[in-house]
Amino acid sequence: MNKDTEIFNRIFPLACRYMRVDVLKVDEEFNQKALDIFLELNKNVRFKGQHEFLTVDNLMNIDSELTSSSEDLVFYLDGCKDVVVFATTLGVDVDAYSKKLQARDMSSAVIYDALASSYLEYLTDEYEKSLNLGEHTFRFAPGYGDIPIKLNYIILDALSISKKIGIYKASNNMMLPQKSMITMCGLGKKTAPTCAHCIRLNSCSLRKEGYRCYNS
Ligand code: SF4
Repeated sequence: MNKDTEIFNRIFPLACRYMRVDVLKVDEEFNQKALDIFLELNKNVRFKGQHEFLTVDNLMNIDSELTSSSEDLVFYLDGCKDVVVFATTLGVDVDAYSKKLQARDMSSAVIYDALASSYLEYLTDEYEKSLNLGEHTFRFAPGYGDIPIKLNYIILDALSISKKIGIYKASNNMMLPQKSMITMCGLGKKTAPTCAHCIRLNSCSLRKEGYRCYNS
């Protein structure tokens, strides 16, 4: 199996989850179509990443009104002194190809979009692993739970992310390139990305529908 196929096999289950498709029920034809689309996607990816270590206090003071409004942020960083913030992006060529695809083949565009989101997660995972962070929480992002999505913009400015790796503010709290994200994890405490460690375990509507953000 070549490296591209190996990566595709790693990211395909999450892409299926984004499309709300049961990966176990995917037929060979759909699988092959998705692999072909991934190979095109891969040609367009110019991954860039940036990370910054902050104290939890510094993070919370980045915009104290905003951060203190989030119970989830306090919950996930409880017991951590420091935090690492990541900014990662697949680059503008991914967006340009997505637009072309949307104009000529919407079903392929949907698959492309899901694969791109999953690929960004995968590449950010690899970037995170390369830092050997020791014990740390799972990675989460503004927009997750009650963490205000507007925090993306505050962090973009505070860490000069536009200047360093070219992620910019767009309208409606989105960022450009579209396949970009700001994520973070607390340091010094180990929590896995499972429902058991989620503040919403007992009130989660996703679980009621039989879906999960993560594997358990
Ligand atoms: S599926 Fe699990 S991890 Fe996701 S929000 Fe619900 S309880 Fe939390």
